[in-house]
Amino acid sequence: MDTAWGNILGQREPKRRLRRLLETDRLPHALLFSGPEGVGKRRTAEALAAALLCSSPAAGHPCDTCESCRAFSRGIHPDFFFVVPEAVGKGARSIRIEAMRALGSALARPPELAPRQVALIDDAQRMNEAAANSFLKTLEEPTGDVVFLLVTGMRAALLDTIVSRCLEIPFGPLALPELSEVLRRHGVEAEEAAALATLADGSAGRALALHAEGALRRREEAVSLLARLPQIPPLSLWAEGKKWGALSREEAGEWLRSLRLTLRDVLALYGGAAPLYSVGLEAPVAEIAARFSEARVFSMLADVKEAERRLLSSNVNIRLLVEALLLSLAGPVEE
Ligand SMILES: [Zn+2]
Repeated sequence: MDTAWGNILGQREPKRRLRRLLETDRLPHALLFSGPEGVGKRRTAEALAAALLCSSPAAGHPCDTCESCRAFSRGIHPDFFFVVPEAVGKGARSIRIEAMRALGSALARPPELAPRQVALIDDAQRMNEAAANSFLKTLEEPTGDVVFLLVTGMRAALLDTIVSRCLEIPFGPLALPELSEVLRRHGVEAEEAAALATLADGSAGRALALHAEGALRRREEAVSLLARLPQIPPLSLWAEGKKWGALSREEAGEWLRSLRLTLRDVLALYGGAAPLYSVGLEAPVAEIAARFSEARVFSMLADVKEAERRLLSSNVNIRLLVEALLLSLAGPVEE
């Protein structure tokens, strides 16, 4: 486990606050890390946990060499408790009361190796009601020196009574250069990383998932489809419909999103702005802008949004949805 603060990208303000609290020994016994998914909340919580468990930390950094640090990096620290939601049967993943009771009784014992105990609760909003109430008791009656680190991407789904007992540390989305850097550290080439970063909504988790899913290729295909649209003969349009209609619901959602963001970039181009989304695809986007009127692009955008809305309904037929969309996008021939 990488516990170096320096390796956590971005998040300057949360890191600064936490290290200051650590250095001045004013860290409260419960913290809530909130913010979008995939921006480094859990990694930061792990770095903080390592520093809290280390027997000789320096300026908020774990030493990496003591027995405690070695146990932590091997994932076997006896004073570190990591709670994550679990799937039971067909139910949604949740944190159940059994897990919270087990945590409560573990924390009732004194620490074995470290000066204190640390409990990290990931996706804390997934505590079901019974678990949340049990946890609330543990929070209210702390036994010994325990630090609770709660992580959530959905703060609104947490009980107010829990939120109000924690110091909240908000995390923001990552900037484009930070997202590129994350991708580069995962072996993605610089140019591809920069392009993927623009699709990731500030989330490193999403950037990596997009990389794994081949999102760039799909984006290129979406741009090329729009550019070719006026020339596609009706018969080939059916072939396109068959191809895109075979996508899974998730893939179709990504494809529609690509079409929508490409059309937005075309509109930006009419307004004299540079494309935000189609980085590296400026030429085909300019071609689309030259080929269609602004009014037409607006109506194409409306068609795509409508298809996105329909995709959400439970019994949607993706093939039919795609075919209808392609027909309306192709529209009447423009002079
Ligand atoms: Zn140490």
